[in-house]
Amino acid sequence: MISTILKRNVYLDNNATTHVSKAVRKTMNRVLKYCWGNPSSGYQKGKTANSIVENAREQVASAIHAHPHEIYFTSCATEANNMVLKSLSNHFYPGKKKIISTPIEHPSVINTLKFLETKGIIVQYCPVDRYGFVSAEELENMIDNDTFLICCMLANNEIGTIQNIREISSVAQKHSILVMSDCVQAFGKIPIDVKDLGIDYATFSAHKLYGPKGIGCLYAKISSPIEAFIHGGHQEEGLRAGTESVHNIAGFGKACQATRQLISHSAQTLLLKEHFSQQLRIIKPDIVINSPTTGCLPNTISITFPNISSRELMMMLDYNGISVSSGSACSSQLNIPSHVLKAIGLSDTLANETLRISFGKDTRKGDINYTVNVIRKYFKQSSRND
Ligand code: PLP
Repeated sequence: MISTILKRNVYLDNNATTHVSKAVRKTMNRVLKYCWGNPSSGYQKGKTANSIVENAREQVASAIHAHPHEIYFTSCATEANNMVLKSLSNHFYPGKKKIISTPIEHPSVINTLKFLETKGIIVQYCPVDRYGFVSAEELENMIDNDTFLICCMLANNEIGTIQNIREISSVAQKHSILVMSDCVQAFGKIPIDVKDLGIDYATFSAHKLYGPKGIGCLYAKISSPIEAFIHGGHQEEGLRAGTESVHNIAGFGKACQATRQLISHSAQTLLLKEHFSQQLRIIKPDIVINSPTTGCLPNTISITFPNISSRELMMMLDYNGISVSSGSACSSQLNIPSHVLKAIGLSDTLANETLRISFGKDTRKGDINYTVNVIRKYFKQSSRND
């Protein structure tokens, strides 16, 4: 299709997942080879495996300023989100029935809330503005005596909007309501201090920060209620039974050690993002940037290309070795307009003309220039064919 540009592989979908870093791979390989004991076994092999799990728990806790006793490993963040929402609903229902959330949460939250509605839980969604920001004041107006939880993500996976969780938490505390925040996309991109955020629960996933897939965790403040989610053995304090995935847990811990270094790339990533959007504006001045300029993840940008199908654009980019997304990874195969883009006011048509681009730690200016050149050629060709 584009013959004069030397094809290269450019991965610009780091919010969907990231590759496993070399350091994480090394740690996991060592565990798989030498430390395959069951952490529950009382002999040395088991004790070694157990110490690996506990060491990783400390590494995860330290990265988010939590106590290791407040960390529960799960199979992924989807599971951790299910765990909080279902466990708390079980704990409070029928005494209290209401959860307040936002319409731009990840499907692992939205679909769990939909399920809970069928069981009698009342869910109210606080509207967001054009850039996806929720107002703490509006949230407060929705609180009543029936409310037990506010559920609001720290950073959005499609548009990158970072919420003022601290403000939301202080509103919740005023009314003795619990706060849960899905911190999956923020982790490794901005500093996270769960104590400073004032939240009761937070969820995380290793594969968004150069760790393995199949491992996540829940942070639950020591004094906040939480009930068993998977019944069986005594693992994870009896809350999440099942033999621990020791190599994945070790990989998660190792990935967490790199968070400070990852965050130190932010300024550089932001410059790349600005360069990218400036270049795109030159090629197609009517593009619309859906991500906010401030209060946004440094690596994330959502762009609408009016009158261009994002699916077609995505496929053209893929043909040229560039991976981008036309929504969140969980919904892009469904071919339905993104609920996030609709919640910020885009029509179905505009939502289907929108790409999400998310840079990673290895994204270089050459990758951006290559992507810009491919897009420029595509638009030149399309205008010639019109
Ligand atoms: N929450 C957010 C904001 C996400 O972006 C994702 C993954 O895309 C998840 C939750 C689910 O994470 P996992 O893949 O670990 O289930």
